[in-house]
Amino acid sequence: QEILNVSQLKVGVEDKEILHGVDLSLNKGETHVLMGPNGAGKSTLGYALMGNPRYEILGGKVTFNGEDLLSKNVAERSQAGLFLSFQNPIEVPGITLGNFIRSSMEQRGKKMTYFKFKKLLQEKMEFLQMDPSYMDRDLNVGFSGGEKKKAEILQLLMLEPSLAILDETDSGLDVDAVKTVSLGVEEYQKTQNGALLIITHSTRILEALKVDYTHVLVNGNVVATGDSAMIDDINENGFERFIK
Ligand code: ADP
Ligand code: MG
Ligand code: MG
Repeated sequence: QEILNVSQLKVGVEDKEILHGVDLSLNKGETHVLMGPNGAGKSTLGYALMGNPRYEILGGKVTFNGEDLLSKNVAERSQAGLFLSFQNPIEVPGITLGNFIRSSMEQRGKKMTYFKFKKLLQEKMEFLQMDPSYMDRDLNVGFSGGEKKKAEILQLLMLEPSLAILDETDSGLDVDAVKTVSLGVEEYQKTQNGALLIITHSTRILEALKVDYTHVLVNGNVVATGDSAMIDDINENGFERFIK
């Protein structure tokens, strides 16, 4: 069952075309990895799919669960089950992590008693080795890099999106934090049968994960698609052979 279909997507930033016609198809339960050198347009694809207004759609079509995605606003995309974990999560003073997650869940029609919510949240926080006191702290304010990433994965596990796009969720993390993030992503794979698009230029987070497809993006074009063996090849030989 196809969850995401990207067809000939062209995206521009500040009057410059960055993505030149990207094709991508993801089915339910599949994990795809998008790799590529710095500046290739990987984050641009993530932001465009999420509906960030800075990224202008210049052509192409995207369907999400069979519906046109590009005509939806950011909130509607999120309600439809799309989740994007940012490279640099923003700090939001005045909203606690717990309340943020609870209202995001309610917006997506996932309502439950506060008691049940808190119990579920505590369970997931324990799984991610997060101090439970963090649920009452302002979202990301004063969080370390690793804690911010854990907070993102906590949202992933609580919101149960049908497609999660993780952009460089592993960058700048120490070995232990990478392990925890990877464990959380594995848990999402196992329990929710959701689809994943993991954007990364490192491979540390992928070691423990089941990967179905790997795509290489260079200069705004998908230049290669393969299985998980491509990750090892890129690890050893870099992107050289993909760059013309
Ligand atoms: P990647 O994530 O693969 O490293 P990006 O999508 O961040 O690549 O960037 C692709 C190109 O688009 C780069 O040349 C970058 O400078 C440009 N770009 C991306 N976002 C912006 C932005 N908000 N403003 C200006 N240029 C941008
Ligand atoms: Mg193309
Ligand atoms: Mg990027």
